[in-house]
Amino acid sequence: MHLSTFFSVSTLPAVLLAASLFASTTHAQDRTTEQGEAQISDPNVECTAYYYAPVGAARYNYPPVWTIATILSNDTAAQAKYNNISSGIPNIAPKGTQPQSETGNFTGFNYSSSDPDCWWTYHQCTTPKYPGLQPDTAGVPEPGTLGYGFDDGPNCSHNAFYDYLSQQNQKATMFYIGSNVMDWPLEAQRGLADGHEICVHTWSHKYMTSLTNEEAFAEFYYSTSTFMQAIQLVVGVTPTCWRPPFGDVDDRIRWIANALGLRTIIWQYDSNDWKVGTDNITTATVDANYQALIQRMQNGTFATSGTIMLTHELNNYTMSEAISFYPQLKAAFKALVPIGVALNITQPYVQPSPILPNFEQYVSGTETLTGSAPGATGSQGTSSGSSTSSQSGAAKSKLATALTMDGAGGLVGAAMFVGGLLRTMM
Ligand SMILES: [Zn+2]
Repeated sequence: MHLSTFFSVSTLPAVLLAASLFASTTHAQDRTTEQGEAQISDPNVECTAYYYAPVGAARYNYPPVWTIATILSNDTAAQAKYNNISSGIPNIAPKGTQPQSETGNFTGFNYSSSDPDCWWTYHQCTTPKYPGLQPDTAGVPEPGTLGYGFDDGPNCSHNAFYDYLSQQNQKATMFYIGSNVMDWPLEAQRGLADGHEICVHTWSHKYMTSLTNEEAFAEFYYSTSTFMQAIQLVVGVTPTCWRPPFGDVDDRIRWIANALGLRTIIWQYDSNDWKVGTDNITTATVDANYQALIQRMQNGTFATSGTIMLTHELNNYTMSEAISFYPQLKAAFKALVPIGVALNITQPYVQPSPILPNFEQYVSGTETLTGSAPGATGSQGTSSGSSTSSQSGAAKSKLATALTMDGAGGLVGAAMFVGGLLRTMM
């Protein structure tokens, strides 16, 4: 074929037409902004890795994704913070032996039946024995209320699920894995922009009690970001809550989390949605677990205080299960609210904004609020005009700043950014 023929006058309109069609069909595949990414409806496209300049530029300030975090050798701020707290860490040995303990195999580990460390994995202990630690949040105080949340996000193909929640004006608590935030930063931004509450689910999703003090510190530190780490880097907020992967927490891990400003959130019921295909768990088991929760609500189990069930943003099955049971949960419970809302924690982040409504406001129809937490100066916030900014506005302002700073990097480094793969984990 001759180029001159291809570009002949007679074919030019067709070329333009093709170009405009191409433009319109790819318009929904803008992979550079939260809004663009949120428009994508094809899960395969959603889960194709993309390059996001602020993360690309900062990736060497973080441990490799999906590996146990350690303090980077040149990270003097992290080292100083660790040195500052390390002498206070309870003298409790890591559980089991790495590497098998990292994935929950504690075979051969001797542990006293008196449960001296309040090890949840051993006997679901949620009231610490070490002095000065707050009990874990396992249920919520409001009667008839479900503290509604999902672990393991941001999932690359969560748009249909988040679209559904938006259509229902439903907010939830999203427990994000640091490595997923680095892999799917625009999906993490959507969580905040949609008005969900963001909590931390560690850097690499290992059994935390198996880790050394420094590893446990780094799993929190690089995920949470009091010092500009992963979640703050891409969504512009520093969470104040975390959930242990597999529930694996003891007083040593609670203490380290607390030293980094993180409240521990666990659950009372497990949907086992994450376990389908293993341990004889089937989709029918998960259906039965959802139905049992609804039954308990109907039989008065939650008449004096509400509860939390473990559910996941892990894969398309767990998300579709959440969608299919949503109407029944909504009908059965008096209220379905983010866990922070159920606890009346109206300033869920270190930053003064965004803020959450309190429980009464939420159940009266105010699912989101604008402005800053009372008493905030606004000087350290994610948005300069925080008194008038919306929640999504705060995130977008942070995003705009980051893009302005790093936009010159463009797509040059795209090949260097390796997106996340679906992992089987809870
Ligand atoms: Zn998990």
